[in-house]
Amino acid sequence: MSVEILTFGCRLNTYESEVIRGHAAALADTVIVNTCAVTAEAERQARQAIRRAARERPGAPIVVTGCATQIDPTAWASLPGVTRVLGNADKLRRESWMPDATSAVSDIMTARETAPHLVTEFAGRARAFVQVQQGCDHRCTFCIIPFGRGPNRSVPMGAVVAQVRALIEAGYQEVVLTGVDIASYGADLPGAPRLGQMVRRLLALVPDLPRLRLSSLDPAAIDDDIWRLLADEPRFMPHLHLSLQSGSDLVLKRMKRRHLRGDAAAAIERARRLRPGIAIGADLIAGFPTETEVLSRETSDFVADMELPFLHVFPYSERPGTPAARMPKVPVARRRERAAHLREIGRRNAQRFLAAQLGRTVHVLTESSDSGHSEHFAPVRLAAPVVPACLLRARVVGATGTHLLAEAA
Ligand code: SF4
Repeated sequence: MSVEILTFGCRLNTYESEVIRGHAAALADTVIVNTCAVTAEAERQARQAIRRAARERPGAPIVVTGCATQIDPTAWASLPGVTRVLGNADKLRRESWMPDATSAVSDIMTARETAPHLVTEFAGRARAFVQVQQGCDHRCTFCIIPFGRGPNRSVPMGAVVAQVRALIEAGYQEVVLTGVDIASYGADLPGAPRLGQMVRRLLALVPDLPRLRLSSLDPAAIDDDIWRLLADEPRFMPHLHLSLQSGSDLVLKRMKRRHLRGDAAAAIERARRLRPGIAIGADLIAGFPTETEVLSRETSDFVADMELPFLHVFPYSERPGTPAARMPKVPVARRRERAAHLREIGRRNAQRFLAAQLGRTVHVLTESSDSGHSEHFAPVRLAAPVVPACLLRARVVGATGTHLLAEAA
């Protein structure tokens, strides 16, 4: 039996699992679980996967890593079947995957390195994720990530270019630049280049990269080069995903976010002015401690008024050790109701956004023989079979509440 990698959480974890796959290739019959600590649910799913692996592959070594393990290694090491635990920095070191390697969880708060490593394959995926940044220096009151990922650290420009070139040579048509807080890119590098500067140089140095997308962006930290790229660079996809979290100023202040509702509205309006028809997505937390019905309505009204189509909505989840976990709570059932309400507003917005694409020509990155995503990151179903992992011009002939129907043009 070969190495099986179970990945939970964000795109950065997906990228790192491919780094691990390269390092662990020589290992036989091993289960690797790359955990996430963003919500209690993510941890529950990882524990369930570990129990299943121990049951279904008795005797196979189980190595657990990722943010949840970095934050509480003892708890994960004590689970039945677990043979080793590795920290988030340790999991990226080749020596951690030698046959006789032992558990290692280094102090992530002093970590300096990023993933010095070229990934050339994302198993079963048509788009590639590229880590450009790691860690976070902010301390949003609900968030445990800085304690799992350490301080902000940027991947030097040359390494990003080399990684993207390797992916293009491997046949990838689209890359998503990812990290924990990519808007902080460069703050730790000589000359402190901003994210937009890096992206502009990357596109100049890799002219054969057809499509570039950014992962979640802090609306308060979008730099001028990003705005310029949005306005005049066709390879920069017309889709921004914003880390909004709430539409209520009082809640945003209690979250210790760097933006207020007005800043987010201004960023969304500016993006729509610079790139008409752009798709805007957002991360949102429903039921943050102290969020009253009135404050919750401020968020749902904001999402409705700004017509945000692509939402990632999470009911608030207490993270041990975070300030928000000590604040007065909103009942769990109420959090879930508010999350469902936000998703419903998002669904209606998405339906209108998708309907507006009718009759247009879109550019689809195909992900299977009958589906893919457009440049706006709209899901697309194709009328006739296509070759996966290719760029296809297609005419939109229909739209449902969840996807576009299109024919090759
Ligand atoms: S910016 Fe805030 S939410 Fe994002 S990783 Fe940092 S602390 Fe967490």
